[in-house]
Amino acid sequence: MCESRLEGKVALITGAASGIGESTARLFSKHGAKVLIADIKDDSGKKVCEDLGQSSASFVHCDVTKESDVEMAVNTAVAKYGKLDIMHNNAGIAGIANPNILENEISEFEKVISVNLKGAFLGAKHAARVMIPNRRGNIITTASICSTIGGVASHAYTSSKHGVVGLTRNIAVELGKYGIRVNCVSPHLVATPLARDFFKLDDEGCHGVYSNLKGAVLKPEDVSEAALFLASDESKYVSGHNLLVDGGFTIVNPKFCMFE
Ligand code: NAD
Repeated sequence: MCESRLEGKVALITGAASGIGESTARLFSKHGAKVLIADIKDDSGKKVCEDLGQSSASFVHCDVTKESDVEMAVNTAVAKYGKLDIMHNNAGIAGIANPNILENEISEFEKVISVNLKGAFLGAKHAARVMIPNRRGNIITTASICSTIGGVASHAYTSSKHGVVGLTRNIAVELGKYGIRVNCVSPHLVATPLARDFFKLDDEGCHGVYSNLKGAVLKPEDVSEAALFLASDESKYVSGHNLLVDGGFTIVNPKFCMFE
């Protein structure tokens, strides 16, 4: 496989100071993209940039819930690298793991929706602002298996991830006429700081988590490879799609399955 699938491209990745976003920044950079890392964790984000080298990556402080921050991050990509080809709305939070709706505070619900859904909306909006005049571009949002099923995360998280798929489809319909593709990548559980905190994972990480597919454990790098596919020209006819990276988790109810 060619090692430069993003040569000449400019990518802005939110939430790239850690976990899936960090891994994606490293992979996109390896494939020749200039990468702008946008996060609220300045020290970790700058550290990832140092690793990638000043000519390949830079950091911008960006809280995705603030429109002025997102606007500035997109403007920084254009000012620094001349354009924006790939906007990856990846920043996300899990919120509190309380399944009891009677104990769910509206403030907590709004916090999760604000980062996961409003953040993706603002990222898409400001990316579209600079992509439309160029008549090309690529917007990817990290959703989750919680975008297609219920019962495996909080009400707020599940709502936010269903929401980003709806947003993706709507924006894909609007922006298709400008040659802009809009997709989601939806991972199963990956042992990042977010998942470790939420599910109280031990050192075994996700090894015990149910999956239809045996003999493989999902790593951040696997999600990044799916994002790379969506970001590259290999997926030039894919738009409005939600690419599940879940080992078949969402296609079967294991309690009602005829196969051993
Ligand atoms: P992570 O905690 O390692 O990384 C999330 C990053 O987002 C962090 O660097 C954090 O600082 C940043 N962030 C949080 N709030 C932000 C804000 N307001 N503005 C800018 N940046 C902000 O977690 P991760 O697992 O890598 O999560 C990345 C994405 O993947 C999220 O959207 C998450 O919902 C999704 N996801 C994760 C899993 C999993 O099991 N880890 C599964 C499905 C989907």
